[in-house]
Amino acid sequence: MKKVLRDVHQRPLEDLRISVTDRCNFRCTYCMPLDEYEWLHKSKILSFEEIERLARLFVELGVRRIRLTGGEPLVRQGLTELVARLAAIPGVEDLAMTTNASRLAKLAMPLREAGLRRVTVSVDSVRPETFRRMTQRGDLAPALEGLREAKRVGLTPIKLNAVIEKGVNDGEILELAEFARSEGYELRFIEYMDVGNANRWRSEKLVSKAEILRTVAARYPLRPAGEPRGSRPAADYEYVDGGGKVGVIASVTEPFCGDCTRARLTADGRLVTCLFASTGEDLKTPLREGAADDALRERIAAVWRGRSDRYSEARLVALGSAGGYRPEDHAKIEMISLGG
Ligand code: SAM
Ligand code: SF4
Ligand code: SF4
Repeated sequence: MKKVLRDVHQRPLEDLRISVTDRCNFRCTYCMPLDEYEWLHKSKILSFEEIERLARLFVELGVRRIRLTGGEPLVRQGLTELVARLAAIPGVEDLAMTTNASRLAKLAMPLREAGLRRVTVSVDSVRPETFRRMTQRGDLAPALEGLREAKRVGLTPIKLNAVIEKGVNDGEILELAEFARSEGYELRFIEYMDVGNANRWRSEKLVSKAEILRTVAARYPLRPAGEPRGSRPAADYEYVDGGGKVGVIASVTEPFCGDCTRARLTADGRLVTCLFASTGEDLKTPLREGAADDALRERIAAVWRGRSDRYSEARLVALGSAGGYRPEDHAKIEMISLGG
């Protein structure tokens, strides 16, 4: 039997998130609010062949689930080819994508045919004005169309991600829950996190898991769904009336670092082990210099073995301490490079 690769805290390597581009057609205020960024030059972005080769090595080291993300993964040209390559790797049990759905109406079917299993769609509001305010460049109608098409072609079960920001869409929690219930999507509310530095996160913008659940349960009573952390890292609840499931990813108020089994590969080939990291291990250089599979695999394994990240747990302690928590004191890689 294959030996399980574990980090310093005994967490196994099981998931890989691959960011296929740092670009996005939206400018969500909580993610990449600035007009323009210093985009990665094309020559620095991993080719599909390079991504496939690294993904294979990760799978050999224990990864079972792969998720494509970005930036917005659907702005990368020819993505169906990458999906087909990844779907063909033996040992990949789940191949999913997180997307803003703006280009999904056209691409859902080809992606499904290439081997994508399911999608998670980020929709923070079902009101056109709020959607535009939060995404700055996005329109609700094409995103909803993409969502419907994903359902139609069977990229299911579809999960919805909604980041809740105080004073922006916290008055729409119930509306989002009702939309997901009526359309048969599993909604996961996400606590607003201080990922990256561009969003200028402040704890006052946070709406906690407790507040979110209170709002939903006041109208639709909830109970914890069977297995806790059934769809890690969301804490799952089900509607008592049989209306399906709903979850909250409570990275700030209830960190789940103890269960963190995810590695992240950036579009320029860095291996990053925490969403709040300031650096990553460069895999692209050895890859392009002709390193053998064994050497690359050992490099990845060494990073995972030495991994000790527990950022969100440390943040929670700091938030409750006399000195407080100052996000600006921590330089972090931006979400557009990491992909969540
Ligand atoms: N563009 C795709 C999308 O939006 O679904 C994929 C990449 S996006 C970075 C991945 C996820 O990260 C999205 O669901 C988004 O809502 C979430 N996200 C981005 N910034 C966040 C923040 N500051 N706090 C919580 N979640 C965030
Ligand atoms: Fe783009 Fe997704 Fe970030 Fe919004 S959350 S700016 S859609 S990468
Ligand atoms: Fe994992 Fe880092 Fe998030 Fe903790 S803070 S759950 S270690 S990504």
